[in-house]
This record gives sequence, C-alpha cells and structure tokens, in this order.
Amino acid sequence: VSGGLRVGLDIGGTKMLGVVVAPDGAVVAQAREATVAGPEGVLATATTVLDRLAAALDGALPPQVGIGFPGLVDHDRGAVSHAVNLGLGGDWLPLADLLAERTGAAVAIENDVRAATWGAHLISGEDDLGYLSIGTGLAAGFVLGGRLRRGAQGASGEIGHVPVDPRGAVCSCGQRGCLELSAAASALTAAWPTYGDASPAAAVFAAAAAGDLAAIAVRDGFCARVADAVRMVGLSVDPATIILGGGITDLGEPLLAAVTAALRAQAARSEFLAAIGLAARVRLLPAGVPAAAIGAAMIWDAR
Ligand SMILES: [Zn+2]
Repeated sequence: VSGGLRVGLDIGGTKMLGVVVAPDGAVVAQAREATVAGPEGVLATATTVLDRLAAALDGALPPQVGIGFPGLVDHDRGAVSHAVNLGLGGDWLPLADLLAERTGAAVAIENDVRAATWGAHLISGEDDLGYLSIGTGLAAGFVLGGRLRRGAQGASGEIGHVPVDPRGAVCSCGQRGCLELSAAASALTAAWPTYGDASPAAAVFAAAAAGDLAAIAVRDGFCARVADAVRMVGLSVDPATIILGGGITDLGEPLLAAVTAALRAQAARSEFLAAIGLAARVRLLPAGVPAAAIGAAMIWDAR
C-alpha cells in the first residue's frame, strides 16, 4: 500500500504539518497539530502527527520520514538545538533517533528553510534557485546546480542576520540592525498593529490598496527592504530564479507586484543593477502548496 510514499513533517512554533507525498509529488494525506513546546512536547506532537498519517494509510507509516525543523540542525547526526520558538536551548536533542524509536521509520532532519528550499526546487523544477523565506524571521536557502547548499556550519542563507543599520535596534541574535528587523513580517506588525485575528500584513496591504497614504508608505518601505534581501541573494549567489515563500506570501500577487516595483526602482538608479535584471527573476510559490513539508518528505534525495 505504501509503495514509494514518503512522509514529510514541517515543525513550526505554533503548529506541525505532516504530509504523505506520492512519487509524482502529489500530497495524498495531511495531518496538523498544535505544537507543544519543550523536548518532550515536540516529540509527543510529532509522534501524534505521524500516528494520524499512519491511520490515514490503513495503519502503516511509510519507511522514510523527513523533517523540517526551525532551528540549528546537525543533518548527519539527526540532532537539533537552538529553537527558541519550541523552547529548545543549546543542548542537542537527537530527534531523528527518538522519533525512529517511537515510529519504526527511518528519520532524516533538515533545517526548515532548507527543507522548503528543496520543496521549491521540486515544485518549480528549477535547478538553480535562491529561496527567500519571509515570515516571523527572514532567511534564504539555495539549490545550486541541483544540489542543496547546507554550509560548513549549517548557517548558509542566514541573511536575516546580516547587519544593515549601524543605528538600528539590537536583534535577538545579539547584533545590531539586522536585515530581518525591517524585512520580516514582524516589521509590519510593529508598524501597523492590528487587534484580534487580523493579519497586520493583510491589513497594511488592504489599506494601501484602498489608497491610505500611511499604509502605502509602510507597504512600500517594507517591500523595499524585502527587495534588499533579494538584492543580497542576487549579488552574492546570482541564482537564475529567486522564489519568495514563507507566511508573508499569503498576500499573493500584490506582494510580488510591490517587491518587483521596489527592485525596478532600485535598478532605475543603477545601470549595474539594471543589467542583472533581478525583478524579472523573482517568483512566488504557488498558493497553498506546503513547500517545507513536501521538501522534508523528499529530503532523502537532496545531495
Ligand atoms: Zn540578528
């Protein structure tokens, strides 16, 4: 029954999404649970999601599980640490072995942005791409010549923590003026607070579309900083395609339009930038496709 099926688990600070992926990339089952923090909570939540997926497949979990994890990942040892949103500190948790014991499956773990990057590679068919994850934080991932870039210390793509403003606020990482302070969703939340369930990002974009001048200024300022992140990816790695993902891309085409407008404005002031054509290389992930969970499921194939 489970021939060729893979399981992917996208572990987030508030929820975990598990998917079963067929060999052709189609998602054939899903399960979602609210994340319980702490080492035992993370393990218990992950086990529950995997049990639910097994139940959806008549009781048998496919033999290979891949996990996208929001923190430091030692891919070779299957261990994780430093995940503030999950209540995990500096101690290494051997999550792959612990989950393998509980489920009987073989488990591979990758950083969540790199898992999403691998998913973006599979979904788009692009072999040379930079993936920009814009959510609560900001990070990039790279597939170069069909290979996933992990980095010597697992820090490849952590461009959210490149300091860009010497007079900026101190970041959670301890440095001052990091890019993620102005180019992640938290920047919109700070600039345009909403109350209740409304998303600040959606509220800013809706008000801007309705002509609110203050909202237009916030939207365009934010998108100029996202354009800076695109420029950083373009000028450091020069990938053929740059794909925007992460929670902020729920905004859809209006986000892409504002970011490409900012890139064109930057290029209008620089023949050098105009010559490399970044605006034409930026794309959005298709809406509603769980790239991180799909990428995690297929992470066994990543070289
Ligand atoms: Zn930082």
